[in-house]
Amino acid sequence: MSDKKQLTTSAGAPVGDNQNSQTAGPRGPVLMQDYQLIEKLAHQNRERIPERTVHAKGWGAHGTLTITGDISKYTRAKVLQPGAVTPMIARFSTVAGEAGAADAERDVRGFALKFYTEEGNWDLVGNNTPVFFVRDPMKFPDFIHTQKRHPRTNLRSPTAMWDFWSLSPESLHQVTILMSDRGLPVTPMNMNGYGSHTYSLWNEKGERYWVKFHFKTMQGHKHYTNEEAAGVIGQSRESYQEALFGAIENGNFPRWKMQVQIMSEAEAEKTSYNPFDLTKVWPHGDFPPIDIGVMELNRNADNYFAEIEQLALSPSNIVPGIAHSPDKMLQARIFSYADAHRYRLGTHYEALPVNAPKCPVHHYHKDGPMNFTGQQSGVTDAYYEPNSVGGPVEDAQYNEPPLALSGDAGRFNHREGNDDYGQVRALFNLFDDAQKSRLFSNIAEAMGGVPENIIERQLGHFEKVHPDYAAGVRAALDNNAG
Ligand code: NDP
Repeated sequence: MSDKKQLTTSAGAPVGDNQNSQTAGPRGPVLMQDYQLIEKLAHQNRERIPERTVHAKGWGAHGTLTITGDISKYTRAKVLQPGAVTPMIARFSTVAGEAGAADAERDVRGFALKFYTEEGNWDLVGNNTPVFFVRDPMKFPDFIHTQKRHPRTNLRSPTAMWDFWSLSPESLHQVTILMSDRGLPVTPMNMNGYGSHTYSLWNEKGERYWVKFHFKTMQGHKHYTNEEAAGVIGQSRESYQEALFGAIENGNFPRWKMQVQIMSEAEAEKTSYNPFDLTKVWPHGDFPPIDIGVMELNRNADNYFAEIEQLALSPSNIVPGIAHSPDKMLQARIFSYADAHRYRLGTHYEALPVNAPKCPVHHYHKDGPMNFTGQQSGVTDAYYEPNSVGGPVEDAQYNEPPLALSGDAGRFNHREGNDDYGQVRALFNLFDDAQKSRLFSNIAEAMGGVPENIIERQLGHFEKVHPDYAAGVRAALDNNAG
């Protein structure tokens, strides 16, 4: 007798022959009663789920977050208390490419983290950049359309990208980062992560502080030039997966220093920029980063599909002591990310093993497709609330402090009164001559085939940042044309 496990159907019945279909004779035809054959074919047809509309190509791993600093005066969140060690999982991604896209492409990288805290899951779904292309969620689907394929050619369209960007000056900050060295990291280990949005922290006294989260690579920044990346893609389209998986498999665990910037509610009233505007950073000089811990990735997934593809990250997942902010883009993502997972994975996606919290879960959601967890209230007769049968109840101590609002409700022109150039200038001035020259040539290359009027409109924005920016790009364009 073999010591191998018995092959069974998914219903558990032993399989006698997994090599030959059951047929009426040696030449066929196949009998419909061969259920093992039908099941194999049916499963094969269902092995794919909808890929993410954005961030479809990803790489991830499990790890831990260790808090070494002390920000307990700002937050009651247990995950952020000194000495806390919390299991977590990270998923990095490109934005525009489909699930089979090459890894070493110039694009913003997703930097998404799920912390399995004892008070529920906290997801920080950020990018490798501190800002974003748009500040109003009304523009988000339009922006994404410009990054995806043209409806007729089914090709990516530089014309659509630059048309949109040149008509949306708030994108200039992110466009500049994307076209700079940091727009093409060598591996996910060689880039920073930013929560990007402004979030809030609140303490036991019910005091609120605004916060930005940063994760600084401890492997050092490394970037490819476009030319180097083309060479890499020629060799392998999976360079990130190979690098991240390989490093962890070899015991070289990548680490990031976790930092926060803190702003009081009073300070937020005085900044020259809207501190909840996703196209702006908080200058380090005004709000110095505070070291609070280290994130380490130290375990590869055993099953990529189950643990990385089915990983569902959403900024809606916060825990007591950490809360949202008025950031309009954040508010929209609170809805749209969870909604994407309901569509992609199903109603009960949070009960999938990789998404399930590691603390007790008690709620009154019921039934629906693939509800395999039974009555989640933890009490058989408690399937509604309030009840007299001892079902789970709310606790007001977990209510976030109220947020004072001012002004009238309405639609406000998000482009009015914003300086879309000053912070880009601060960044441009940080670049040395070689960095500037690569920025110019990356932009010129990305503008290949774009109509002149769109290029001129974009050069007008570069001019407002710095005359050298516009002149540099113009020279690089001339160089390419010549
Ligand atoms: P600082 O000089 O204090 O900070 C500059 C920061 O810019 C650095 O700490 C680093 O961020 C980042 N940086 C440095 N070199 C590059 C580069 N080649 N490409 C992209 N980013 C780089 O000035 P400010 O805080 O006033 O910021 C100036 C500009 O720097 C901002 O307008 C913004 O464009 C950019 N920046 C600012 C960040 C912030 O949170 N204040 C974060 C990232 C960029 P890091 O330490 O995160 O690596």
